[in-house]
Amino acid sequence: MAIRTIRKEGDEILSKKSKPVKEINDSIFTLLDDMLETMRAQDGVGLAAPQVGALKRVVVIEHEEDLYELINPEIIETEGNQVCNEACLSAPGRCGDIDRPFKITVQALNRHGETVTHTVDDFMASVFCHEIDHLDGVMFLEKATNIQVITEQQMRRRKRERKERHERRKRAANRI
Ligand code: ZN
Repeated sequence: MAIRTIRKEGDEILSKKSKPVKEINDSIFTLLDDMLETMRAQDGVGLAAPQVGALKRVVVIEHEEDLYELINPEIIETEGNQVCNEACLSAPGRCGDIDRPFKITVQALNRHGETVTHTVDDFMASVFCHEIDHLDGVMFLEKATNIQVITEQQMRRRKRERKERHERRKRAANRI
């Protein structure tokens, strides 16, 4: 595994549409592994292949104990809406508000080439939408309103709050 350079806002690759993966081979495994390592090194929650310079429809997302590796993801269903305050490893130091569906169902291939569907809501729905937007060359800043500067310290606090919220939801779910 290797850490790859994250492309930053202004890099034209971030505005290009990525191509579907036709064959899941060693280069896709390496890409997935490298993306995961790169995302973890930056303490990110999601990363799309164009952010490391590969115009392929590949996304990795990791939040607490949930890890998703998505190849050729498609949003097949959406429900409700929410306003999310998002940030991006390709636009460090800034965040903004975006309208997103509250709940989405995504179909994709996993690294074994199997078709998988994931239904996610709340924060995770916004992460999935954000990453899939990258595959279409869309940066969140193009859609966002109320764009603000965010410090490292604020980012860490947000992460902590997300973790607490996640734990609360998990506890509530276990009680049912
Ligand atoms: Zn992003």
